[in-house]
Amino acid sequence: GLCQQAAFMLSAARVDQCPVDDGLEVAFAGRSNAGKSSALNTLTHANLARTSKTPGRTQLLNFFRLDDRCRLVDLPGYGYAKVPIPLKQHWQHHLEAYLGSRRSLAGVVLLMDIRHPLTDFDRMMLDWADASGMPMHILLTKADKLAFGAAKNALLKVRREIHKGWGEGMSIQLFSAPKRQGVEEAHDVLARWLGL
Ligand code: GDP
Repeated sequence: GLCQQAAFMLSAARVDQCPVDDGLEVAFAGRSNAGKSSALNTLTHANLARTSKTPGRTQLLNFFRLDDRCRLVDLPGYGYAKVPIPLKQHWQHHLEAYLGSRRSLAGVVLLMDIRHPLTDFDRMMLDWADASGMPMHILLTKADKLAFGAAKNALLKVRREIHKGWGEGMSIQLFSAPKRQGVEEAHDVLARWLGL
């Protein structure tokens, strides 16, 4: 199935270290601890992204190869409490350079903890996607932390807020790594963006 052959390619500390900018890739973004590593592992059936990370590692863009043409990209998690300000500026500079220049970028998956949605970082990413016309799909992660009805309500509330603030173009779903909830829905989006 989709993503099953995913394999680590390389880590890039700067945009000029990224793989050749052809084919298509989908990037995963989110505040630190939003569940990005867990989601990547769940969606690829692989231990691609280590769930325990060090501040140093979070400064890297990690590329995973799906096939000759397609890649997934783990963008550095934002907001790591232990990262000093100069590192944060470094991070922002390279993230902006990547997002602003990458021609093969077909879409961005934004992960938000269902209990803490729409952080400043999330709003910045939504503004950027809106302004640049980049397709964006949102995973409300850790949906298993809420009861079914509460998770549904949170989904409706955040979806309404996003459609009001950033237009109808952005899609949003519930996701849980341990329950494997929302895997098929997320795969459908990746397949569409990557032409798989
Ligand atoms: P990252 O910093 O965004 O890569 O976040 P991680 O994937 O490392 O997850 C941060 C913490 O949240 C870890 O303790 C995970 O086990 C936990 N976590 C991640 N996804 C889920 C989820 O869907 N459900 C639950 N209950 N916990 C999760």
